Amino acid sequence: MTEDATRPDPAGFTWRDLPIRDDLRGLSPYGAPQLDVPVLLNTNENPYPPSPELVADVAIAATSAAAGANRYPDRDAVELRKDLAQFLNEHSLGHDLLGANLWAANGSNEIIQQILQCFGGAGRTALGFEPSYSMHRLIALATGTAWAAEPRDPRTFELDPGYAVAKIEQHRPDVVFLTSPNNPTGTAAPLELVEAIVDAAPGMVVIDEAYAEFFRPGTPSALTLLPGRPRLIVTRTMSKAFAMAGARIGYLAADPAVIDALLLVRLPYHLSVFTQAVARTALAHTAELLGTVDAVKAQRDRIVAELTALGLHVVPSDANFVSFGDFQDPHAVWQALLDQGVLIREGLLPHKLRVTAGTVEETTAFLDAFTRLLQDGRAPLRAKGEGQ
Ligand SMILES: *Cc1c(COP(=O)(O)O)cnc(C)c1O
Repeated sequence: MTEDATRPDPAGFTWRDLPIRDDLRGLSPYGAPQLDVPVLLNTNENPYPPSPELVADVAIAATSAAAGANRYPDRDAVELRKDLAQFLNEHSLGHDLLGANLWAANGSNEIIQQILQCFGGAGRTALGFEPSYSMHRLIALATGTAWAAEPRDPRTFELDPGYAVAKIEQHRPDVVFLTSPNNPTGTAAPLELVEAIVDAAPGMVVIDEAYAEFFRPGTPSALTLLPGRPRLIVTRTMSKAFAMAGARIGYLAADPAVIDALLLVRLPYHLSVFTQAVARTALAHTAELLGTVDAVKAQRDRIVAELTALGLHVVPSDANFVSFGDFQDPHAVWQALLDQGVLIREGLLPHKLRVTAGTVEETTAFLDAFTRLLQDGRAPLRAKGEGQ
């Protein structure tokens, strides 16, 4: 699908021939493959498309937005932010958030970029606990922010609060990133960990809750910690549970002072009149869109149970994906699944692969294909205790 766009320039130039910033030269762009195969379980989207009713309502909203498209959109997306506040108040357990606590952008990646433009930048440092979402590092570097990474526990991928605090005291970062549930491991952060990090951090703390709607029962959101903590930011997205990845809508909740600060760096009119209209329409259909979350969680739990029964090391997951292994040759397993029409994600954790929970049928297709590989000896596992 992306072949044309990535085809080498016939004249033979590459980006390395251009006078780009020296600090960008060592980087590689974000690049989860976008392939046209029957079973897509590689980028953690919700597998259920919007209903015909929602599609029709989006069309109506887009039409009415188009009628006024000669004017710039509401720069501050006031109505959308009120809707988002109401959504969090109703669906994330009784907080008193107002529109002034919310901010929206084109995906939570743009939210992260605005945060780093405002609180990171030249001469400043952001700290992350890896393995985690690779875009935190990439956006940090793209905004000129130095990136410091400290490892999570290599087996459980958990983070001990004392260890996290020690690393914060060592780096004194301007921004700390904590992904909960963490991508690509699925590990959720207990609130004690978030509190310890906010208390220790000299700067801003970003809790990336892109997968919060998939939390297992009893796992809390960092939203509950917002009151009285003006340096805490919780980011969310409509791309994952909310089944609207194509619309590009991300948001954050924080003290209103944080949003006032972000106004300094956001581009004027960054959120188009169409995006705002689609987001509000989708929020009016929250029951439908979140109605699929339980079904996806059931498939997530099924993947964990079945892969565990097959003898694999499976990372417990609070998200809509599961990382599993440990393979002698994860790329060969990834390729063999792709040959059977099942696309999952490789290259995120050593010796492991990551699969997104899909519909029942998609999940069955993955589990059947994978079980066949294992039984045919085409997915040899590493012996327990083999080093990294
Ligand atoms: C998918 C993802 C995002 C980005 O989502 P947007 O589509 O830009 O809203 C952010 N954080 C994590 C951890 C993700 O996995």
